[in-house]
Amino acid sequence: MCYTYTVPDLNKRRPENTQGPFYVDATCIDCDACRWIAPASFREVDGQSAVYAQPAGDAAQMAALQALVACPTASIGVTDPALQARTKDAVASFPRVIAGNVHHCGFHAENSFGAASWFITRPNGNVMVDSPRFAMPLVRRIEQLGGIQTLFLTHVDDIADHEKWARHFHCRRVMHADDARGLNIEHPVHGRAPHRLDDELLVIPTPGHTRGSACLLYADKYLFTGDHLAWSPRRGHLVAFRDACWYSWDELKVSMRALADFRFEWVLPGHGRMHHAPAAEMAAALQRCLDWL
Ligand code: SF4
Repeated sequence: MCYTYTVPDLNKRRPENTQGPFYVDATCIDCDACRWIAPASFREVDGQSAVYAQPAGDAAQMAALQALVACPTASIGVTDPALQARTKDAVASFPRVIAGNVHHCGFHAENSFGAASWFITRPNGNVMVDSPRFAMPLVRRIEQLGGIQTLFLTHVDDIADHEKWARHFHCRRVMHADDARGLNIEHPVHGRAPHRLDDELLVIPTPGHTRGSACLLYADKYLFTGDHLAWSPRRGHLVAFRDACWYSWDELKVSMRALADFRFEWVLPGHGRMHHAPAAEMAAALQRCLDWL
């Protein structure tokens, strides 16, 4: 698997970085990915990320290198040759297991503003949720894992390289019809009623962030939410993004209330933070979100 590490322009290194081999440069688009992938090393300072603590030890260094690989704008640099040599291990770590057979794809795409994408391996057909960069090391790993049978797109903002993934893996794309206009989606979903794809996969239309936003519930456990619902560490509860609500805040609230009918233990968003809790606690967390809305 070929991967060549290129050091970003050191002249663009942000002065807010702490001294050491890892740094963020001025091209950062503040997508937040590095801050949740390697929270011990990266934080937001003045609207962009910066390294606030140089990673010490193998695990922290690998997390920082995974953030470097995931960064949609190649804004993270590392100057130590020994650490540069380990970027190939970080590349090979994607898709990385989050829980069970659910993986984080890494390789976030700039044209989906660095949204996270996810990958489920299943005997009855692998699923990718939203589109990462069509990067060949990731493509090869996904081939080894059995390819993609279904590419679920939560909404129109996070589709990135969906055409390349669909063409390469001959997979069906599933997306709500209200966001799918002009995209030649093989399996558009219509209306507001939940739509079952198979015994494990349920599409739940959640209009609000966009008209055609939808969540995917897998195995009554994992809810992939796009930009509809995410955990906010700052607020300490689940939230929606009022400042990034492109269609209707009122519709979003209706969609959020409808989610209370479903059981799940994981929230896996495009933007914002993931959250895991037992189903009863998650239901309480969703209720706190509804109260807050
Ligand atoms: S992943 Fe890259 S673009 Fe996103 S916040 Fe971190 S440095 Fe900035």
